[in-house]
Amino acid sequence: MNRGTNLPAIGGYNRSVVLDAIRRESAGLSRTEIAGRTGLSPQTVTNVSRRLLEAGLIRESGTVISGPGKPRTMLQLESRGRFAVGVHIDPAVLTFVLLDLVGTVVAHARELTPSASEPDEVVALMARSIDGLVVASGVDRELLLGVGIASPGPVDIGPGLVLDPPMMPLWRHVPLRRALSEATGLPVLLEKDVTACAVAETWLSEGGAGRRTDFAFVYYGTGYGTGLVLGGDVLRGASANAGDSGHVMVDDHGHRCTCGRIGCVGELITPHALVREAVDGGVLVAGDVSDDALAEAARRGDDVDMRRIDEAFGALVGKADAGDAGALAVLHGAGRHLARALVTIVNLLDLDEIVFGGPFWAPLSRHVLEVLPAAVRGDPALIPKHPVRIVESSIGIDVAAVGAACLVLDQTFSPRPSALLIRA
Ligand SMILES: [Zn+2]
Repeated sequence: MNRGTNLPAIGGYNRSVVLDAIRRESAGLSRTEIAGRTGLSPQTVTNVSRRLLEAGLIRESGTVISGPGKPRTMLQLESRGRFAVGVHIDPAVLTFVLLDLVGTVVAHARELTPSASEPDEVVALMARSIDGLVVASGVDRELLLGVGIASPGPVDIGPGLVLDPPMMPLWRHVPLRRALSEATGLPVLLEKDVTACAVAETWLSEGGAGRRTDFAFVYYGTGYGTGLVLGGDVLRGASANAGDSGHVMVDDHGHRCTCGRIGCVGELITPHALVREAVDGGVLVAGDVSDDALAEAARRGDDVDMRRIDEAFGALVGKADAGDAGALAVLHGAGRHLARALVTIVNLLDLDEIVFGGPFWAPLSRHVLEVLPAAVRGDPALIPKHPVRIVESSIGIDVAAVGAACLVLDQTFSPRPSALLIRA
């Protein structure tokens, strides 16, 4: 809990301190309780509360009588007082969400990523989609705090650049934050996808904020990565690019990775890797999918057509669902490879929970989870003696976009001297 200051010059900071205290108590707080928790004087709390009420950020939610003295008026967040937009860019799919002030998703939308398009065309599409989402939800544009983007890494957070993400060959040093801010007229912040997922899980996971404190979020989309949370804090690293775990080596044979090594987990478990393995092994054959999808699945390289890969991936999972032994073997193999990589991360950070999610996770989760928990717990390399919980994200397929929007809300609540949210 951050303590306030009574210097009038930083009323904005005190506003955040009071908002942060109120949002941590869903039942609300009285002015006296806020003063007690923040260290602000009763007079300062009264003044700040009045300004927050006038701004529509909080509301009075009835009175509570406890002990002698007059009844205390409770203050709560005004859920529809402000809204935040979250955008998640996966090379295969774009996800958009609109969150209210307490983190409830009030609208969402998905579109296929036009991966063959220039970045500026994708930015224009994103701006139109955000506009459409806001209009359809009936939310007053004046109440939007800003847009959070969850992007594949690596990113350069300072200037808001997307550098050179895998599977997006046209995206090289794209000034995405500035471009989307100019296109929408809104403040925009940029965060790596796996970090946004970890943020969403710490804020909104079932059981309430703060329940999860030491976990990895396994992101399974077009790419693979792990968001990391230790002691309740999301780890960003020196350049906000923490969580790249695709080059953890888990096998001594297989395709050569882009890094030159053999057996990198990212080269073994992504949707593209699985469909290629299925084609190579004769599991996915002509008739299962279109000839174009079959040919694309067998290809290598960063410029594969993700829509064709998606089609082949759907066919592979469909065969596994129907009990095809070859397809099941491919997906179970992914579970065992992933387990080996995760044991390394669990050992390194002494984690007690692994949370799975991302845009391609749901279709194969059942098959991967048939083997993964036992493979983790039975791995002779596993060091911690405590249980390691293995769960799926309760937020679902929108998790990265939700996390990006949470980061925008966080800018409103978090009492910090500097703000990350930058308007172009
Ligand atoms: Zn590698």
